[in-house]
Parts: sequence; structure tokens; C-alpha cells
Amino acid sequence: FKKIDIDERAKDELAMMGHSFNHMIDLLKKNFDKQKQFVSDASHELKTPLTVICSYARLLKRWGMERPEVLEEAVNAIDSESRRMKEMTNQMLALASGETEETLQVMNVDLCRLTSEIAKKLGTAYQRQVDVQCSEEAVINGDEGKLNQLLFILIDNGLKYSEEGLTVNVKKVDGSQHVEVRDFGIGIPEEDLHSVFERFFRVDKARTRKTGGTGLGLSIAMAIAKSHKGTIKVESEEGKGSVFTLILPEEGLRL
Ligand code: ADP
Repeated sequence: FKKIDIDERAKDELAMMGHSFNHMIDLLKKNFDKQKQFVSDASHELKTPLTVICSYARLLKRWGMERPEVLEEAVNAIDSESRRMKEMTNQMLALASGETEETLQVMNVDLCRLTSEIAKKLGTAYQRQVDVQCSEEAVINGDEGKLNQLLFILIDNGLKYSEEGLTVNVKKVDGSQHVEVRDFGIGIPEEDLHSVFERFFRVDKARTRKTGGTGLGLSIAMAIAKSHKGTIKVESEEGKGSVFTLILPEEGLRL
């Protein structure tokens, strides 16, 4: 009777072990599939500018000496496409390095000051007004360099996808620190809202090629927000504008 009891328990334990093993394999497989997808998307995205560079290089070789208009067009195209590739590879490296809490350099960060500095820089670059409102002190523990990168992406996008100025609101809401970036630009179609944080996603590939987008900015921003135990929320209406809100826990990370 006792033997049967032990056998039953062993069987149960074995079944449970099998279950967690299957779960682990599932997780590993999902992770592996994600990596495979990333490599395949990255190669595809890099191939486009590379094809343009190769074709113009060939054109230069054939006509560059005789036809100054070909020379100019080819040099401009090679210049802009290689810059694009450089930006993309830098962003891919940022994503591959993986933003985790362990790799952050945590310090006191004044979000009002940081946001105002970025707003000033980008406002000057785009020659547009970026209004920053800070109702109260907003100092949290976080990695200033990474938060700078995150807010830069949100404010830069707001200016890139609109033709007017922006308003940025730094405020506390229910024990969280919010930085709300509001633009009055082209907006995002409802069916695309859930995809904007995916790697390489662009609402309109043709249009964003002109604005120089890579589709990686928001996925980097979200990875940084998550490593700070926060998130980014988006609301948008096509033709009216978008609001991207960075939400961080008020207490921030441990110093
Ligand atoms: P990109 O380098 O293309 O800007 P992002 O990851 O930053 O890449 O954004 C992904 C896509 O989301 C953009 O290509 C654009 O279509 C859309 N998007 C992001 N921010 C905005 C915004 N403020 N207004 C309208 N569309 C936006």
C-alpha cells in the first residue's frame, strides 16, 4: 500500500517537473523566435539603404566623371543613405545591449530640468516652440543619460510628425510621475496604435522614409521606461495629434 503511495507522489512530481520543463522550453523557443525575427527584420531594413548606395556607386563609376548632375545626385543619395544606416545601426546596438535595471547608473534626476533642456535644444533645431510646464518638483531616481534618450525620442517624434509646436507637461498623478508630450500633428490611425512600440514598425513606410525614421525610436523608449519600472502610454487621433505619456513610479529606482 505504501509503495503505491510513493509511486503516486513520484508520478505527480514527475508530471509537475515535466510541466515546468515544457514551460521553460516554450519560453526559450519564444525568445529564440523573437531574436530570429529581429535579425531578419534588421537585415531587411539595412538592405534597403545598402541597395541604394550600391546602385548609386555603380552609377558614379560609370558616369561620375562625365556628368556633373549624376555626380551630385549620387553623392547626395550615398551621403543620406549611409547616415541612415549609421543611425539605424546605433539604435540596433542600443536595443541589443538590452536595457535592464542592473545596467543603469542610478542618480537623482530632475525631470523638469531635463525636459526643459531637451525642449530647448529640439525647439531650436526645428525652429518651433516647445512649452514645458512643471507644476511641482519632479526629482526621481533613475539613469539620467537613458531618461534623456527616452524624452528626446518622444519630443523629437512630436516635432517630426507635426508642423506646429508642442506642449510638455511634467506632473504627479496618483503616486506616479508623468511626462506628457502632446503634439498637434498627423496623429496615428487607431488600428496602428498598439503597434507603434514594436521594433521597425512605421505607420507609413514611404512617408517616414522622407522624415528619416527607422521605426526603432519608440521601442528603445519603451525598453528604457520598463527598465525604470515604468511604461509609456499613447493616445492619438488621426489629423488632430498625439499624446505620449511617460509614467514612472514616483519613488523611482533604488540609489
Ligand atoms: P521612427 O524612427 O519611424 O520615428 P518610432 O519607433 O519613433 O520610429 O515611431 C514609430 C512610428 O510611429 C513612426 O514611424 C510614426 O509612424 C509613428 N509615430 C511615432 N510618434 C508619432 C507622433 N508623435 N505622431 C504621429 N506618428 C507618430
